[in-house]
Amino acid sequence: MLAGGCLCGSLRYETRAPPLFVHVCHCTRCQKSSGSAFTISMLIETFNVALTQGTQDDCRITGASGTRYDITRCADCGTALWGRAHGRSETLAFVRVGTLDEPDRAPPMAHIHIGTRQRWVALPRDIPCFEEMYALDQVWSPESLARFRILGS
Ligand SMILES: [Zn+2]
Ligand SMILES: [Zn+2]
Repeated sequence: MLAGGCLCGSLRYETRAPPLFVHVCHCTRCQKSSGSAFTISMLIETFNVALTQGTQDDCRITGASGTRYDITRCADCGTALWGRAHGRSETLAFVRVGTLDEPDRAPPMAHIHIGTRQRWVALPRDIPCFEEMYALDQVWSPESLARFRILGS
């Protein structure tokens, strides 16, 4: 449904279902790993993201909650395309929205870890913002929650 790729063009992927959710994370680790003010993550089942071209080169990082993530990157240019969390949400991919060909098709639905945001970042008033993380049933749609529950079983 959505296609994307790395900066040099050698790694290409596509998603095969609508996003479960899209959030902007302002945690300090996301700032470090992106070299920017935040990351925009599209959450989707890992099996609904497919590499269609190129060679991936994974690295491992630790998120704000202590969760470890494998980050799928392009072996040639190093662009990070998505992360996969270890543990309970292992089957979830966190696709970096800026790598989509049409990032406007996956607009943010919430902001998280706003307590550590860079101070110049103005928060929107039309979507929920959380000091740290939300509870899934606070913000995810019933359809997304149902898809997530299937993953856990
Ligand atoms: Zn590349
Ligand atoms: Zn983060």
